[in-house]
Amino acid sequence: MNAPYATNGGVSNCAYCGYDLRGTPIGGKCPECGNLVNFRAAPIYQSNGNAVASLVLGIVSIVGCMGYGIVSIICGPLAIYFGGKAKKAIQAGYADPNSQGMANAGRVCGIIGTCLGAVGMLVLLFYVVLMIVAVASAGAAGP
Ligand SMILES: [Zn+2]
Repeated sequence: MNAPYATNGGVSNCAYCGYDLRGTPIGGKCPECGNLVNFRAAPIYQSNGNAVASLVLGIVSIVGCMGYGIVSIICGPLAIYFGGKAKKAIQAGYADPNSQGMANAGRVCGIIGTCLGAVGMLVLLFYVVLMIVAVASAGAAGP
C-alpha cells in the first residue's frame, strides 16, 4: 500500500526554511514558511511495539519450555503472530525499518519455542499415558 508520506531522497526538510516536514502530506503547506510541500517527506515511524512483543514472547517461549512446554505452546505462536504483524507494518511504511531485525528474531524464537513446546507436550502426554498404564496394571496386580 502507499503510505501518505515518502522520502525526498532521505531529505524531509523544507527546501525554503529547513523546517522538518515529517508528517506533512504532499500539497500541504510548510507550517513554518507557508510554502507548498511538493515532495513526500519521510514518514514519522510508529514505534514497532509488535516487534518488541514478538521478541519478548519468543524468548519466553524458549525459556518457558521447562514445565512441559505449556508456556511455549502459548507464547511461541503469539511471537510468530506479532512478528508477522511487525513485518507487515514495516512493509506498509508505518513502522521503523530498524525493527525488522527484532521482528525476525522474535519470529525465529517463536518458531523454536513452539517446536520445544510441542516436544514438551508430547513428553507430558507420554508421562500421562505411562501413569495410566502403571495405575491400571497396579490395580490389576493388586490383591
Ligand atoms: Zn518552510
